[in-house]
Amino acid sequence: MKKDMDSDVFYKALHQQYGGSVVAVERYINPRAIMRFHCTACDMTFYNRPYYVLSVQQHKCFLNYADDVGYRAKTGKGIKADKTKKRLPADIKKEISGLFDKGVSISQISRQLSVSVGSVLYYLSHK
Ligand SMILES: [Zn+2]
Repeated sequence: MKKDMDSDVFYKALHQQYGGSVVAVERYINPRAIMRFHCTACDMTFYNRPYYVLSVQQHKCFLNYADDVGYRAKTGKGIKADKTKKRLPADIKKEISGLFDKGVSISQISRQLSVSVGSVLYYLSHK
């Protein structure tokens, strides 16, 4: 990636990297000027440098919650780390959805249902 990419190159790279799920809310100025993005997959709006969002700080859905409980710090991995674990029973999934909709935090859901934080995040981002 060129450090002086123009806006056409940037928008194209952004689209390629995220398959169209992450869009720029503000006008692109240069690779280091912080701007606002929106992720249509997890409905999150966030600020980042264009250069970072394509390289060292890629957006991962629900990572804000993951950071909240130190999940990423502990495992060094994203949500997909739990993909190999056994699937959650349907009634647990229903409870996770119900609690999450009520505004209960990920870490509380995890404790309450004795399900790992990773599994809760994985389910919420793939349901
Ligand atoms: Zn997202």
